[in-house]
Amino acid sequence: MTQSCPRRWPRPIVSYAEVLHRHNIRPNLCLQPATGYRLATAAAARVLAVETDCLFCKIVAKEIPAEIVHETDRTLAFRDINPQAPTHVLVITKGHHADAGAVADADEGLADEMLKAARTIARKEGVAEEGYRLVFNTGAAAGQTVFHAHLHVLGGRDLRWPPG
Ligand code: 5GP
Ligand code: ZN
Repeated sequence: MTQSCPRRWPRPIVSYAEVLHRHNIRPNLCLQPATGYRLATAAAARVLAVETDCLFCKIVAKEIPAEIVHETDRTLAFRDINPQAPTHVLVITKGHHADAGAVADADEGLADEMLKAARTIARKEGVAEEGYRLVFNTGAAAGQTVFHAHLHVLGGRDLRWPPG
């Protein structure tokens, strides 16, 4: 990989202290020193588990740049780095869910929010009338390469079927 590869940047988070600082997680040392610290450490561990190995979590955290085109409370949408059509936007959940199935199992209405975001993007991009394609590659055999749920919004050209 070259130095400019986005997967190499930024450097990994190496300590709980840094995670606590970045996410403004503060142990409640005044009230309950032990419990407060344990809670804060658990929160840091959750963040750490996500941020050290997930590209899209890093985009949500603004640690890796992306061209953001739409945002809601629980979703973020940005242009695919390797577009397969004139419009190729990825709608992701801000929280980490491995794939579409995990999204369906997760918070009430989250999948709906992703779908609504995709519809808004299609309209903004001017492809809603002519037609566009929504794709959740789910699992390695289906071509999923980033295991943080994302909905591909593809449009702006004729799309063949079957997709291959
Ligand atoms: P999948 O193959 O998992 O369905 O889709 C992953 C998508 O993420 C691919 O279309 C790929 O081009 C895109 N992608 C991978 N790394 C990055 C990145 O760093 N930034 C952006 N914007 N897209 C990425
Ligand atoms: Zn993630």
